[in-house]
Amino acid sequence: MKLDIIIPTLNEEESLENLYNAIDKALDGIKYNIIFVDDSSTDNTYKVLEYIYKKDNKRVKVLSFSRNFGKDAAIHAGLSASKAEYAVIIDADLQQNPKYIKDMLSFLEENKDYDVVCMTNNYKGEGLFQKLAKGIFYNIMRKATKREYVKGASDFRLMRHDVVKALTSMTESNRFTKGLFSYVGFKTKYVPYKPNKRTAGKSKFRLKKQISYAIDGILNFSTLPLRAASFIGGTISLGAFIYLIVLVAKTLIQGKDIPGYASLMSVLLILGGLILFVLGIIGEYVSRTYIEIKNRPIYILKNKLGYDEDIL
Ligand code: UDP
Ligand code: MG
Repeated sequence: MKLDIIIPTLNEEESLENLYNAIDKALDGIKYNIIFVDDSSTDNTYKVLEYIYKKDNKRVKVLSFSRNFGKDAAIHAGLSASKAEYAVIIDADLQQNPKYIKDMLSFLEENKDYDVVCMTNNYKGEGLFQKLAKGIFYNIMRKATKREYVKGASDFRLMRHDVVKALTSMTESNRFTKGLFSYVGFKTKYVPYKPNKRTAGKSKFRLKKQISYAIDGILNFSTLPLRAASFIGGTISLGAFIYLIVLVAKTLIQGKDIPGYASLMSVLLILGGLILFVLGIIGEYVSRTYIEIKNRPIYILKNKLGYDEDIL
C-alpha cells in the first residue's frame, strides 16, 4: 500500500461523507487506505463510518475506542495500524484540505533526504491574544527542550513509515504529538497553508483546553520548570542571607532596632506562596510519573472494521 490516511474523529457526523468524497477526488490514481479512528463519539459518527465502510470496504478501515482517549491517542492508534509506505494525519472537520496530500506525497517522493512534510498554519485571521500566547508557548518549548518547534506546525503531516515506527515506539500514555514529532527528529519540510473555517460541528480545543495542552507539552518534554524552581529558591535564599548580614551589621555598628512586623509578614507570605508553587510543580512531575509507571494502555478498542488480524 502506498498511503494510509489517518483521521482522528470525535463527533463529526456532518463532515465525514464530505471528507470521504473530498479524499476520493483529491487522490485519484493513488493507492491508499483511510483509517478512521472514532474517539468514542456521542453523535452518529460511528454509524456514518459504518455506512462509509460498507460503501468502500476495500479502502476504508475503522477503529473505535471504548471511551474518549483524546486526539493524540487516536493518532497513535491510527499510526500503530499503519503499514503503508507513507502515512498522513488529517483532521475530520475539513479544516485541513485533502487537496494538499498529493503535493505532500510528491514532495517526499522527489526529495529522498526529507522524511516528513508538515503543513504549517500561517495564522492569517487569528486574534492578537492567540498570536501572542502561541508565540510565547513556542519560545518556551524551544528554550526548554532545545529542539526545533516551528510556530504553527500542525498535525497535518505526511511521513515515511520509518517516522511512523519511531513515533509508535514511544509508549508514554500522556502523549503530546507535537512534542513527539520534535523528539523523533527526521528532516521535515514545513509548508505554510491557511486552514479552512469549520463548517460543521464544534471545535474540541477551546481556550481552556489549549492552555492545559500547552502546559502538558512543556511538562512532558522538559524538566526546566524544576530547575527554574531551584533557581528562584536559591536566589531568594541568597538575597535573604545578604539582608541578614546587613541587619546584623547595622545592629552591631549603629545599634539600631530592627523595624517592622509588616515587612516580616509580607516576606513570610511571599515565601509561603512560593514554597507552595514550587511544591505544585514538583507534584505535577510526581503525578505524571505515577500515571506513566502504571503503564496502562494508551487506548482501548471497542470495535474495528476492515481488520481481520488482531491489532492493538
Ligand atoms: N478529536 C478527537 N478526539 C478529541 C478531540 C478531537 O479525535 O478528544 C479530533 C476531531 O474530531 C478533529 C481533530 O481531532 O478531527 C481536531 O479537532 P478540532 O477540529 O476540534 O480542533 P481544532 O481544529 O479546533 O484545533
Ligand atoms: Mg478543527
